[in-house]
Amino acid sequence: MTLFRFLPFLLTLSLASAQGGLTIRFLDVGQGDAVLITSPEGQSVMYDGGRTESRMRELIRQYQIRNVQAVIASHADADHITGLIPVVALNRPKFFINNGLAGTTQTWDRLMNVVAQAGTTGLKVNDQVLQLGSVKLTLLAPPVGMPRGYPNVNSVGLLVEYAGFRALMTGDSEALETAGWLRKYPASFLGPINVYKSIHHGASNGDNPVWLAAVRPQNVVVSVGPNSYGHPTRTALELYRKVGAVVYRTDLNGTVTVTVQPSGSFAITSEKGAASRPATAPSGLSSSPVPLTPPRARDAEPYYSNCAAVRAAGKAPLLRGQPGYRDGLDRDGDGRACE
Ligand SMILES: [Zn+2]
Repeated sequence: MTLFRFLPFLLTLSLASAQGGLTIRFLDVGQGDAVLITSPEGQSVMYDGGRTESRMRELIRQYQIRNVQAVIASHADADHITGLIPVVALNRPKFFINNGLAGTTQTWDRLMNVVAQAGTTGLKVNDQVLQLGSVKLTLLAPPVGMPRGYPNVNSVGLLVEYAGFRALMTGDSEALETAGWLRKYPASFLGPINVYKSIHHGASNGDNPVWLAAVRPQNVVVSVGPNSYGHPTRTALELYRKVGAVVYRTDLNGTVTVTVQPSGSFAITSEKGAASRPATAPSGLSSSPVPLTPPRARDAEPYYSNCAAVRAAGKAPLLRGQPGYRDGLDRDGDGRACE
């Protein structure tokens, strides 16, 4: 409670909804990411918003999401930015922060329109530190040298620190980006992490042993819903088991909520189901080491930066599961991109 003593008078209205500490909600948005971070003082930041506006509107009502000071888009894919549209429209945040790379979809254009209408200032990520009440938010810019046409490896990361507690999320980054961050930041900056968002919904080319050895996650939340990509992959789940992390999944557990006390102690609760703990894994899975599947060679797959490129290659429409298909090209999310 001593934290509140020094707060400016202006924040007293939001103190009514303060919960005594930091709250982080990994919102159940199906296949996609949306993380709500709320300070003890009642100010919030939304990191990604999930794939639909309607689901986010439900969540805004359910969790009474208000007083959002900033929204952060990890990258411009639809499963990350679509839900930011109602968040910005209803909250008029001060800042919209992204990697500086414009999206190529109508969803992106709508988000930019809403940002402009809300009077929200656009900021390109640059390792800024945002002080959200008593919570320190450090933005991780993509390392230099990431190919501009490849959104995943230009994901914006976010480190959340409060009372000794640390959480980390890095969008849909891949080994190319995490390797850059490993070169850029000291190991003591990257880990250990109390609560960590699984990269790219548990894809096989996101989290990797070298990165996780630095991050040292104690708890992992996989933000995932029904999908045809095989997320979360056995490869990723096996990595989390090997580092001894407790795993939560929004498809099985619903929204996962972390509450951190001013003392730094924290608790994780979920809407339903139980977390998967390494100690209680079936013996068949936990005894002998299982060989890791090597990450799929992304380079072997074509990458289309926009639908014009898909059409130029004579591949339109691209169906989900076909080489080169990605959410960002599939505006209406029906599994047929560049129709
Ligand atoms: Zn994604």
